[in-house]
Amino acid sequence: MNIAQLLVRSAQVFPDRDAVLLGERVLYDYSEFARRAGALGGALCGMGLVPGDRVALLLHNCAQYLEILYGAWCAGLVVVPINHKLHPREVAYILADSGSRLLFSSSELGQDLPCDGADTVQLVDADSGAYAALLTGATVPPVPREPGDLAWLFYTSGTTGRPKGVMQTHRNLLTMALCYFADVDTVAPGDASLYAAPMSHGAGLYNIPHVLAGARHVIPVSGGFEPDEILALARGLRHVSMFAAPTMVKRLVEQATARGEDGDGIKTIVYGGGPMYTADIQQAVAVMGPRFVQIYGQGECPMAISALSRTHLTDQHHPRHVQRLSSVGVAQSGVEIRIADGDGVPLPNGESGEILVRGDAVMAGYWGRPEDTAQTLRGGWLHTGDIGALDGDGFLSLKDRSKDLIISGGSNIYPREVEEVLLQHPGVREVAVVGRPHSEWGEEVLAYVVPKPGHTLDPAELDALCLTHIARFKRPRQYLVLDELPKNHYGKVLKTALRDLEPSPNPRRQQP
Ligand code: AMP
Repeated sequence: MNIAQLLVRSAQVFPDRDAVLLGERVLYDYSEFARRAGALGGALCGMGLVPGDRVALLLHNCAQYLEILYGAWCAGLVVVPINHKLHPREVAYILADSGSRLLFSSSELGQDLPCDGADTVQLVDADSGAYAALLTGATVPPVPREPGDLAWLFYTSGTTGRPKGVMQTHRNLLTMALCYFADVDTVAPGDASLYAAPMSHGAGLYNIPHVLAGARHVIPVSGGFEPDEILALARGLRHVSMFAAPTMVKRLVEQATARGEDGDGIKTIVYGGGPMYTADIQQAVAVMGPRFVQIYGQGECPMAISALSRTHLTDQHHPRHVQRLSSVGVAQSGVEIRIADGDGVPLPNGESGEILVRGDAVMAGYWGRPEDTAQTLRGGWLHTGDIGALDGDGFLSLKDRSKDLIISGGSNIYPREVEEVLLQHPGVREVAVVGRPHSEWGEEVLAYVVPKPGHTLDPAELDALCLTHIARFKRPRQYLVLDELPKNHYGKVLKTALRDLEPSPNPRRQQP
């Protein structure tokens, strides 16, 4: 089934419901949303694009995003979402690798593109009159698509090697959307999906369950994440749900605290995409109440590996509550999770190994890379590269990415465990723990810490904190204070960049 059929159905069932809003201003209802997508689909077919062709999107969060998505799907095309913060050369690489024939962009973003790789692509400025003209023609119904046909070609952030195109099919996206209802949240009439995180990532894919349920789609006027704007929109629009990376949650909670607010109007904040430390989620729930749900996913299985429900997040009387808070919850309905050793042999509960995932939400493979596909999907399981453990109740704890694991003197040290301890210090705002090569031990532990405003960190105190909570060999041998941690465009801490920092003289060093 073509995923665009979901919009056609919603337009039939809820034609007059508000569909797309810019801030609090309603732009159009579901009947107009479907008409625009159907007309764009017709125009794309008229331009000679055929089902399976790739169409790239390089846009800030904007109202056009949604109609272009559904217009492209309607024409049977494969959408290639590109993070607008990427360097023009990175954009050109994605355009060339995906063989995109058309690029929807804006005059601001499109102008910097270099020619190499991008020269075979036709550029459409989504703010232009020419674009508006594409929405005026006759509408076409969604082109029939098989469940295994491609719909979304998402380029991984490429922390190792060049970015790879993750092939997501119509079946994958539908599974992810249905899992939203089964494992993440209900969506009621009048609910609003707010796009504060980049729509080119999983946050944008959350439009699908909200289209299915006939909910409102809200694009912040700023086009991104401004805590004050988000809090104000929630107060005005009510029943607002959004995806937020942990750093965004932290900023939102800080802002709500500063304003004496509790996130009034926010129904659900789905967080994930990076580790949420126990102290931070406890603080978030204390300030904003039971508004949170956690998901764990990756480009290869977006938003759909596991979920920690609202109930589990707030069930403080459960004997294993704190343990569960620090987990990423249980397998979502569309997948099975297995923990395996390096040979793929399943490990018993409680033991740490690589997290493997299988099910209808898992990607079909990497675009044009059969060897990488075979390696990552070997034995029919997605090898996530994350290390974790399952408990007897099915809760998954994520230790770290396998490449972030520190091995010192033959012992495994999970940076996250050390980070959780350091975050308990009242003066620590953020922390990232990495390994540094050591002639005797193989690696030694190093902590980069960001103090809270007005605090000075005493390494001896940090050391004492570690010694009270974790084994001596896990404690950092050195603390380096930074004003901020290097992060990627999605707010994830770049541990590779931190490893590269050393032995740079830039960070203010503190020797324990
Ligand atoms: P990406 O493919 O860029 O979305 O990155 C996915 C990676 O982010 C996963 O493989 C995990 O290492 C990490 N990640 C995603 N969700 C969570 C979560 N809820 N908690 C901790 N790490 C996460």
